[in-house]
Amino acid sequence: MLEKSEENPNHKGVWVFTEQIDGKLKNVGLELLGAGRKIADKLGEELVAVLLGYKVIELVKDLEAYGADKVILVEHELLEQFTVDAYTKVLAELTIKYKPSVLFIGGTLNGRELAPRLAARLNTGITSDCVDFDINSDGHLTHVKPFGKLMAKIICKTRPQIATAKPNVFKKLEPNWDRRAKIVREEIKINPEDIRTKILGRIEANKNPYGSIEDADVIVAVGKGLCSKENLKLIQELADLLGASVACTRPVVDRGWLPSSQQVGQSGKTVAPKLYIAIGISGATYHTVGMKNSDIIIAVNKDPKAPIFQIATYSIVGDLFKILPLLIDRLKKEVKEVKLSITTKGE
Ligand SMILES: Cc1cc2nc3c(=O)[nH]c(=O)nc-3n(C[C@H](O)[C@H](O)[C@H](O)COP(=O)(O)OP(=O)(O)OC[C@H]3O[C@@H](n4cnc5c(N)ncnc54)[C@H](O)[C@@H]3O)c2cc1C
Repeated sequence: MLEKSEENPNHKGVWVFTEQIDGKLKNVGLELLGAGRKIADKLGEELVAVLLGYKVIELVKDLEAYGADKVILVEHELLEQFTVDAYTKVLAELTIKYKPSVLFIGGTLNGRELAPRLAARLNTGITSDCVDFDINSDGHLTHVKPFGKLMAKIICKTRPQIATAKPNVFKKLEPNWDRRAKIVREEIKINPEDIRTKILGRIEANKNPYGSIEDADVIVAVGKGLCSKENLKLIQELADLLGASVACTRPVVDRGWLPSSQQVGQSGKTVAPKLYIAIGISGATYHTVGMKNSDIIIAVNKDPKAPIFQIATYSIVGDLFKILPLLIDRLKKEVKEVKLSITTKGE
């Protein structure tokens, strides 16, 4: 373990670990470049994307377009597949050499494994699942994360200040394909003995019958107001008509009505669809922190004082068992009319 690296003027630069899998960048890395740009500009420091993999140079142009001033690229056969041993070793060596002041890591499955291990290796602090960042008057990074109904502001006095954020929390910058960054290639020695895990193969996950929620454009989300698992039929019918994925609150998972893969919120996933329909959901902060960045929110709740209405774009006050059948009937009619007009035009 290293000596604690106390706040130190030699630590400079805002780094983002931009994860790729099979030569495809994870969106969260690009989103963190957006958050990092703001912080780097406030500090007057460079925004650096760190890209590890094998034959991944093609991805550099995306990192330039999405805001990086510099890209540190490490290509090695043993980095082709993510392993926490190899990735921690490389990132730790780079960090010790360049001394960044901030390091952002996406809260993906791999990122969640990598970030705490790296923090322990570097003997520095880490804040997970941040929803905002700022710089305080002493020049420390303020990590903002929900803590019950409060937003906690956390600072870290050691360097680098490591933080993770879930996908869909921050927005990507508009890409500028004319932007150019400085590219720095680094050679890091990695031996097969450094890696204690062997990837023997990969098994495709079973198809999720409720649809993936992280990248869905339309989500129909349901809460405890649904009353029973049997009533899910109604939700699924609405979701099918809209081509939507089905999401839920934590009590719905606790009751076994839907699997935890569909849970939105602090201890679930963060989503930012174009349309989020919240049905029988009260709007507790633990839930809204995971969906408030949706473009349009429609809430259906029988309680006019339900907090969800404070963030809803359109509020429908009433009994979901009366409203949903009306909505479904109307949508079926619309779909029929659209189909009819397509057939008529085609004739
Ligand atoms: C550490 C921690 C982490 C948590 N993480 C999460 C998380 O990730 N995600 C999450 O969602 N929660 C989370 N929670 C729980 C959270 O605090 C709330 O309890 C939960 O979000 C409430 O879920 P709900 O809206 O389904 O239920 P309720 O709060 O019970 O709301 C049900 C709503 O349905 C309405 N309703 C009832 N019947 C009808 C009807 N017939 N028609 C229309 N409306 C109706 C009611 O008016 C009510 O507003 C967490 C809690 C803790 C302590």
